[in-house]
Formats: sequence, structure tokens, C-alpha cells
Amino acid sequence: MPETPLDQLIKRLSRLPGLGPRSARRTALFLLKNRDQMMLPLAAEMDHVGRHVRVCVECGNLDMQDKCSLCLDGRRDQSRLCVVEDVSDLWAIERAGIFSGLYHVLGGTLSALDGRGPAELGIDRLVMRAKSLHKAEDRQPEVILATSATVDGQTTAHYIAERLEAQGLTITRLAHGVPVGGELNFLDDGTLAQAMKARTAL
Ligand SMILES: [Zn+2]
Repeated sequence: MPETPLDQLIKRLSRLPGLGPRSARRTALFLLKNRDQMMLPLAAEMDHVGRHVRVCVECGNLDMQDKCSLCLDGRRDQSRLCVVEDVSDLWAIERAGIFSGLYHVLGGTLSALDGRGPAELGIDRLVMRAKSLHKAEDRQPEVILATSATVDGQTTAHYIAERLEAQGLTITRLAHGVPVGGELNFLDDGTLAQAMKARTAL
């Protein structure tokens, strides 16, 4: 029997993270039963976001404009820069409401195995941004390294710290208690707040 468009939809849904064939079938049925309230609006939103979302030229966040709303918000603390691996980490920190400075999304960690070096992560651009942080009245500008506690995450943090040495910056790392390999995304807000509050100088 040839594959119907519905079969194709279910197949595609089953490739989404966290969904297998069974949940994909359930999701497709749910969408079909709620065609006007869910399926068609969802399709329109996907189409719109899929066509128009952009990577912020400054920080690597996702938004509908070249510079994201966080980078354009002059009220944010221009003396602090938080370095994260992934956009999901940025979102987690924003959701927890524990940081009001600027971000830098690396898009991964240094990994010889996966062929990701400093150039792939845009570390030169990060160094430039760190240098242009505003001076705070009572302290040095700060770069917070919020990469994961995995080996690659730690290596990346140390590499960045080395590159930023002698820039007159305070360099800190999220406190441990962050589970090894745990994406910030999976931490509850309280744990994340604690890790941010108890961050330590490198
Ligand atoms: Zn941005």
C-alpha cells in the first residue's frame, strides 16, 4: 500500500525528540481531532517561525530579527556576559530569572572527536565581545562560563578562560551541584539559581 500523507506525517512526527511511532500516532490523531484549534494554527506557526526565525548576530540566540530582543534591551547589565553551550541553556537561565546580563551561545563544546575547534564555536568573536563589556562602577566586568560539567564542557570553559586571561575581567564558573552531563535545561529553577549565585572565580 502506498504511503498516504497521513503516514508521512506520522513518520516525521516520530522523528521528533521524545516521540516514537506510538506517540507520533497519538499526536497525529490528537491534531486531527482538534484541527481548527490546534493543527492548522500549529502548521501556520511552524511555517512562519520556520521561515523567519534568525540566529542573533551578537549572541547566537534565536529571534525574529538580526539582533535578538535581549541584545537590544539596553536595561540589561552590559558588564556581565554569560557563556552557554546551547540556546536551550540560555532559555533555562532566562526562565529562572537569575541573570540580567548578556549572553553568548557557543553552539556546542570543543570536541576533537566531532571536529569542533575554536573557529567552529566562534571563540574569537566571544573574546571581542568580552573585551567590549562595559565597566561596572564597583567591579570588573564579568564573564560567567556556564558550560556543562562534562569533560568537553570543562575543557571548553578552561580554554575560554585562558583566552580571556589578562583582559582585566572577572571570570567565573557556575557552581557545581549541576549534575555531570546535565544540561541546564533539565535543572529546576532553584538548583539553577543556586548554581548561579554560588558561582566561583576561575
Ligand atoms: Zn542576541
